[in-house]
Amino acid sequence: MVVLKCPVCGGDVTVEDDALPGELVEHECGAQLEVVKNGDKLSLKLAEQVGEDWGE
Ligand SMILES: [Zn+2]
Repeated sequence: MVVLKCPVCGGDVTVEDDALPGELVEHECGAQLEVVKNGDKLSLKLAEQVGEDWGE
């Protein structure tokens, strides 16, 4: 397991060592986070909000 920082609340987020870039993780603060890989280090960014309100 790897402990990363939530970009939204700054709290710790635990992800699997073998998490893949693009994998979505929901943090306890309610944020949808996306795993990104920089070199051989994992980090997190806020996932794009998709669905919900794209027109009728
Ligand atoms: Zn968070």
